[in-house]
This record gives sequence, C-alpha cells and structure tokens, in this order.
Amino acid sequence: MLPPKKGRIPSRIAMNCLWRVLAIFLPFLPSTLSLQPAQARVLLVSFDGFRWDYIYKASTPNFHYAMENGVHVKQVTNIFITKTYPNHYTMVTGLYAESHGVVANEMYDPILNETFSLNKMEVYNSKFWEEATPIWITNQREGHKTGAAMWPGTDVKIHGAFPTYYMPYDFAVSFEDRVARLIDWFTSEEPINFGLLYWEQPDQMGHILGPENPLMGPVISDIDKKLGYLVSELKKAKLWDVVNVIITSDHGMSQSSSERLIELDQYVNRELYEVIEQSPVVAILPKEGKLDEVYEALANAHPNMTVYKKEQIPDRLHYKHNSRIQPILAVADEGWEILHKKSDGFQPGNHGYDNILPEMHPIFLAFGPAFRKNATKEAMNSTDLYPLLCHLLGINPLPNNGSFNAVKDILAEEVPFGADTYATVVGVFLGSFLVMVFIAVFVKHFILVQANTMQMQHTEAAQPLLQD
Ligand SMILES: [Zn+2]
Repeated sequence: MLPPKKGRIPSRIAMNCLWRVLAIFLPFLPSTLSLQPAQARVLLVSFDGFRWDYIYKASTPNFHYAMENGVHVKQVTNIFITKTYPNHYTMVTGLYAESHGVVANEMYDPILNETFSLNKMEVYNSKFWEEATPIWITNQREGHKTGAAMWPGTDVKIHGAFPTYYMPYDFAVSFEDRVARLIDWFTSEEPINFGLLYWEQPDQMGHILGPENPLMGPVISDIDKKLGYLVSELKKAKLWDVVNVIITSDHGMSQSSSERLIELDQYVNRELYEVIEQSPVVAILPKEGKLDEVYEALANAHPNMTVYKKEQIPDRLHYKHNSRIQPILAVADEGWEILHKKSDGFQPGNHGYDNILPEMHPIFLAFGPAFRKNATKEAMNSTDLYPLLCHLLGINPLPNNGSFNAVKDILAEEVPFGADTYATVVGVFLGSFLVMVFIAVFVKHFILVQANTMQMQHTEAAQPLLQD
C-alpha cells in the first residue's frame, strides 16, 4: 500500500471538519432565507379631484390619523393636462401623457381615425391604452395577482389582459361595496398583492359647487369618513399592519366665474375647426387647410388664453410628441373657461390647467409597514409613484419618466439596508463566518499533522542510534 502523500491527510481532515461545521450551521440556513420579507402588499386609492389642501378646509380627522401613521407629501406635481384619465394612467405607468398615449379625456386619433370619450363612456377601445403597459399587467406577468375596484382603465382589455379580479365600471356601486371586494381579494386563499380603488368624489361635487363654495366642507368631511371606513375595514381584516396604503388623487380643482369666460366665436368661425377636448385646455382640430387661419385668429385673441401650434407647446409640459395631441392647443389661465359662446354654460369648478399651478395638485398620503410614520415630504412628481409602487411590490419597472431615488426617503428603512436586503446581509455574514471557521480548522489540523510528521521523522532518525 502506498504511503499517504503529504497534504492528503490535512485535506481529508479539513473536508471532514467542513462537513461537521456545515452540519452544525445548515439547520440555521432556512431561517436565514425566511428573513425575506413577506409578500409585500399595496393598496392604491384615488379620491378623484381631491385637492392637496382640502384637508385644511374641513374637519378631516381620518386624514390626520393617516398622516400621523404615515407620510404626507405636501405638493405633488401631476401631469399636464390635469384631467382624470391622463393622470390616472400616469400613476400606473410612470409616463407623461405624450408617452402613455391617454392624452385627454376626449381624444381623436388621426392614424386610427377613432375617438375616445370619457363623457360618452367610449373608453373600451384597447388601442388607446396600449402605447403603455400599466402596472397591473407587469405585476401579473411576474406571477402576482391584482384586484381593481373601478380604477380608470382596469376594466379595459390591455395587451390581451384584465386585472386578475376587477369590477366593470358602474358609478352606482357604493364605496363600501368597492372596499368589501378589495378586502375579499386581499384575504382570499390566493390573495392579491396589489389593489386599486377609485372613488368619483369629491370631483363631481367640486365641479357642481366650485372648490371655494362653503358647501364643499361637508363633501370633504364625507370623503374623510370614507377613509375612516377603509381604515376600520383594514383593521377588522387584520390588514392594517400588513398592507401599504397610498391615498392620492388625479388633480385638484379651481373656481370658475361668469366674469372669466373666453368666447371662441368672437374670434374665429366655428365652421373652420372642431373642438376635441373641452375647456380649460381646448384641443382644436382645424378643417383641412385651415390650420394657419385658425391659429392666426386665436393666437393673440385674449390675454388670458395662450394658444400654441402643437410644435410650440413648451417642453416642460411633456405634451407634444403624440399623434392624439391636436394641431392647436388653447390653454386658459387659472380660473378661466374657453367656450364657443357664453350661453354654452360652464361649471363652477374645473381642472385641466397647467400642472405648475398648486390648485391643480392632488393629495398624497402613504401609510403601512414600508413607510415612515408622522413624516412629511415637501414635494414629488406623480410620475415617481410608479417606480415607488414597483419597489414596494418587488417587481421590475418598465421604462418610465419617474425616479425611485426622488421618493425613497418616504420609506421606513434606508434602501441599501431595507428588509429585502436583510437576508443578503445575514447570508454574507454567515458565509464569511463559515469560511473563517473552515480556515481556522484547516490551519489547526495542518499544523498538528506537520508537527506529528516532524515528530515521526525525528523518531525514525533517532532509532538507528538507539539500536546501535
Ligand atoms: Zn373632473
């Protein structure tokens, strides 16, 4: 039998020791892996037309309770035009209107030669939604389930899919019924990780009354009660400590006046053009060959109306590069309305104006395990909501106009050491420890073996002398 080569003995001992060390630590590895966060759950809520400062205009104890338990972002710059459909689609895509393609509540696409209308509820043509992919589709493609209670666009088939669960739009369905469905979806055997909830108020009453009307007080307080109901239902279902809730809106509201009306008929023959989107940002489609004539007639017509040819629209509005944006855009100053003639009538409250105006900005609150408590942040862009949602859901965001870095400071833990990296840190620590133990055991046994070998050689060398 060949004598063992030098070095084999230490390797064998080291392997033996490694197995012993692994045998000791392996039982702990599963608990290390289980430090991965439980499936993150998010509920996104929109109270249509809830202006950022409504919480200071009426008794809103539930909004303030949510603020104490979460983060309040004071100024959210939404996207132009400050209307319902464009802004709701921005929240779920992170894109400006020119990029997601839902550029207005009323649209005409000259390439498709088709129209889209919120007023007529002609919103189910998938093609108008498919320039972008909303977050619920991405969430489902990554193996999760989504539940949507009447969020705009969630009952439209987009890229061949609906949300996992959704309610076809019906304004007659109560807020309480919408909440009940969401609670069911969050607590079912195969739960959703992402819910979307939409409520039509206080937008409708804001239009009817005007935001400065004292009667808006009870309307705002009613929304506060609805938020209180949502919080109590989350608590009842044991979801309060588990679900991250974001309360926001699409836009604010501005007070209109019969003193602030601009009549297009005074300046240009209405036979020369068609109005696609209505006041206060009027999308004008001139008849064939009439572009310059209509533009010249309107360009300097009224000091409170700015008129752009499409290519002149300022870059900061991100509202130019889409075929659904019409050749001429007439933008009213805040509080002004653009009509054919005064007798067309107008509503006391309206929105749609420049997104730089604070009165167009929505509320934004966030509470739940992922968020800081009793914290405020001065400002963010509504495009940042999408990458934030993707982070919370643990899904990969598609290319977007937002920035996660701009909003990560509202999260409870610093991102580099957030819950999702905790297991990695523990894993690296444990791995390093195992390597150090292995090296220590290896070195110890190597020294012992070397010592034994030297002792044996010394004994062999000494024996002949003794024999002699
Ligand atoms: Zn509205």
